[in-house]
Amino acid sequence: MLSLFALHESNRFVHVSEVERGLACDCRCAVCGEPVIARQGELREHHFAHSSNAEPCASSYESDLHRFAKRVIVEARGLVVPVTPAASQALGYGGRLDPSILLACTDIEEEVAVGELRPDLLAATVAGVTVAIEVAYSSFCSVDKCLAYEQLKLPALEIDLRAFTHTAFDVAKVKHAILEDVGGKAWLWPMNIEAEQPVDASAENAPTQRFLPEEIVTIHGRWISVKELPSGDIAIKAVRYDPDVVSVVRTVARAHFGRYREAYHSWVIPRFRAQAARLQLRSIASADLC
Ligand SMILES: [Zn+2]
Repeated sequence: MLSLFALHESNRFVHVSEVERGLACDCRCAVCGEPVIARQGELREHHFAHSSNAEPCASSYESDLHRFAKRVIVEARGLVVPVTPAASQALGYGGRLDPSILLACTDIEEEVAVGELRPDLLAATVAGVTVAIEVAYSSFCSVDKCLAYEQLKLPALEIDLRAFTHTAFDVAKVKHAILEDVGGKAWLWPMNIEAEQPVDASAENAPTQRFLPEEIVTIHGRWISVKELPSGDIAIKAVRYDPDVVSVVRTVARAHFGRYREAYHSWVIPRFRAQAARLQLRSIASADLC
């Protein structure tokens, strides 16, 4: 199969239509690292060829498509996603009912292990919610995987790119499908059905009822505040500045996918690691008493 993708000098994973013709493409083979030539002639499908004329390295179109899709989302720092009532809640937008929304992200990481799962991308939204993004071409998420996302309470979006076969790849159309269109996107969790469940009568009061009481954990005689947010995430911070305690908070937060929020001087831990982070702080506090 002809190679449609290569690694540009800038370290971007590029499609042959995105670069200059010939050696001026400044690209290397993504498999062996040899310089490649962008062949953009009239007769054959445009492709990359090794500059030595060696046979093309074996590559999988599906993994190339994944890699391209991840690059596009990382570069755009977000994407438009469909909004269901359940997704709106999980994303921290409450009862908002727009059919779609731009999910702007502060940070997007590739292939991070979350429990047993390794989503294509793990994004932190500007609202402070962690979201998994899966790109699908020939294999789609199984029921088990959806259940795993449900258990983690980790919102997960799947993007269906099966229309873009090797011969039907068009950079502009693929980017549109990934970034702007919502037709091929679906939430693996939360499924919308949850929003249709009857609302617990006791929960229909003020949203402040959804906050749990703030927990204070004492380490080295200093207080650490642990607050649950309406989303189920927790915010942790040293109540007064103390370098040792700040460093404990930072270490625990980073171990549990925490994101620092400058304005609040606090770390927000996504809900699927909230309990683990809380337990770790408590165990440091109890070790501290000995
Ligand atoms: Zn090669």
